[in-house]
Amino acid sequence: MHELGITENIVAIVRGHARGQPVTRVAVEIGRLAAVAPEALRFCFDVCTRGTELENARLEIIDVPGLRTCRDCGRETEADDLLAPCPCGSWNTRTTRGTDLRVKEMEIA
Ligand SMILES: [Zn+2]
Repeated sequence: MHELGITENIVAIVRGHARGQPVTRVAVEIGRLAAVAPEALRFCFDVCTRGTELENARLEIIDVPGLRTCRDCGRETEADDLLAPCPCGSWNTRTTRGTDLRVKEMEIA
């Protein structure tokens, strides 16, 4: 489950900003093409934050749909799967959004 490593990174980033103060909310953007399972992330977040200043923080997950541009027909379409062709049938596409995961916001008590 690679979500554990990802969650450890998120927690490290937030703790770096919190500097020992309790954190009440963390908002994370997850691209649909980032291959991260939100439920697994929630589970890992609960485990990783135990005993830290994030222990009572609410994890908000913001879903970011994938977006790609077709090099053949020029169409820009949403995509939930990297292994799917453009509606025109072309595989010659470039993904422009939805592959990242990032900490968007955090709230300190
Ligand atoms: Zn196309």
